[in-house]
Amino acid sequence: MTREEEMTVRSQAFRQQYRDATPRWYRGELHLAFTLAFTVGVIVWCFSRIEESTAAQWLWVAVPMFLFGNWAEWAGHRYLLHNTKSVLKAAYKRHVSTHHQFFVHTTLDYHGQRDWRALLFPPFAPVLFVAAAVPPALLLGALWTPNAGYIAMVVMASYYLMYEGLHTLSHVENSPFLDRLPLVNTVRRMHVLHQQGHKVTSYSTSSCFALVLAPVA
Ligand SMILES: [Zn+2]
Ligand SMILES: [Zn+2]
Repeated sequence: MTREEEMTVRSQAFRQQYRDATPRWYRGELHLAFTLAFTVGVIVWCFSRIEESTAAQWLWVAVPMFLFGNWAEWAGHRYLLHNTKSVLKAAYKRHVSTHHQFFVHTTLDYHGQRDWRALLFPPFAPVLFVAAAVPPALLLGALWTPNAGYIAMVVMASYYLMYEGLHTLSHVENSPFLDRLPLVNTVRRMHVLHQQGHKVTSYSTSSCFALVLAPVA
């Protein structure tokens, strides 16, 4: 048996076991609803607090915050999700022992809402990601204008939403449409490598734009 066949068999066996162990109460729709409600809620609320913003405020905050989001995504994979010394053991276990066993590059597909338990990031992920923007947002609000702080939060929550969306699209199989969509097709190709377990490129291929922005990351 080739290594690839072995990985596929192991993944199929894990899938069965994980599906059997999924509690009856689990609903993928609720899992997705929480992620959407939290991120969209932060975006809408912070947006509503912005008063007469200027183009300069958006430019000087949105660009650095987008890069910060990209860094947070990369660092999250590098230090928390793929690191045996992770300070968030639960996140490490969830990502490596669940997501990467349920999905390998030959088994990227998912079937039905109950598989979303392995597909979607756990509910604490969006909370943690968005919370990482609170210190810089408070600092911006105190040193410059409250608008800057709210814009920072809008960008960070939007980044997470985009990340979760692109990751989900990376698990949609046989889609010539998605394979033709610029950016989405790059992320999809990179994610196949990530699920294949490419060690050297693992962190950068897990990120949406790390590879685009920093090929050596
Ligand atoms: Zn994945
Ligand atoms: Zn990973």
